[in-house]
Amino acid sequence: MPAPNIAINLTRLNEEIPDHVGLVAVSKTKSADMILEAYNAGHRMFGENRAQELATKFEELPKDIIWHFIGHLQSKKVKYISGFVNLIHAVDSLKLLQVINKEALKHNRTIDCLLQIHIAKEENKYGFSPEEITNLIDSDELTELKNIRIKGLMGMATFTEDNSIIESEFLGLKKMFDKVKSLKNERFEPTILSMGMSGDYKIAVEMGSNLIRVGSLIFGERT
Ligand SMILES: *Cc1c(COP(=O)(O)O)cnc(C)c1O
Repeated sequence: MPAPNIAINLTRLNEEIPDHVGLVAVSKTKSADMILEAYNAGHRMFGENRAQELATKFEELPKDIIWHFIGHLQSKKVKYISGFVNLIHAVDSLKLLQVINKEALKHNRTIDCLLQIHIAKEENKYGFSPEEITNLIDSDELTELKNIRIKGLMGMATFTEDNSIIESEFLGLKKMFDKVKSLKNERFEPTILSMGMSGDYKIAVEMGSNLIRVGSLIFGERT
């Protein structure tokens, strides 16, 4: 496999996506050198899905990188990233939020989070149901978490070739986002809808995503 041209891939993507859509370059499993290549091409926002790997890369790489945690996060791993992480995309339980709050407080920070909503048909994908999301945002338990800010929702579509399924799932998520936006909680400042990856970001953007998480199209396939 030839080495991917990271700078060119980034330029192509940035030219293609509308200005209001943010691009998280998903660098999981990729080397610090490859991340630096993207950094030197001007990119600053990167996503990782393993807490220790992210902590190591944070130590090694320039400190103005904006790090997002994008995958399922275990409570016991929060401590590795709580000192510096900029956005946690896939919060899927109140318990996890409480741990993030506690760790954020230790660092005297507020940590921005997205709630993962379960839209895909696959059972193995994590996330809240629409009803659970509404209940959580309405809850006093959330209001008490002073070192957390819920910035929006995140979701993943079913892994399928059938674009009509992906389209309807992303549309469902967008509608859910527009609905919960009107809920009031001091901890809730919804501006971000994170959906779309290498295979489905075009559909996601059409359906209203404003933050996409793209890995293999930038850095090449993961082995
Ligand atoms: C790996 C991953 C991505 C990026 O996947 P690609 O298909 O390589 O773009 C996006 N979101 C999450 C949650 C991931 O785990």
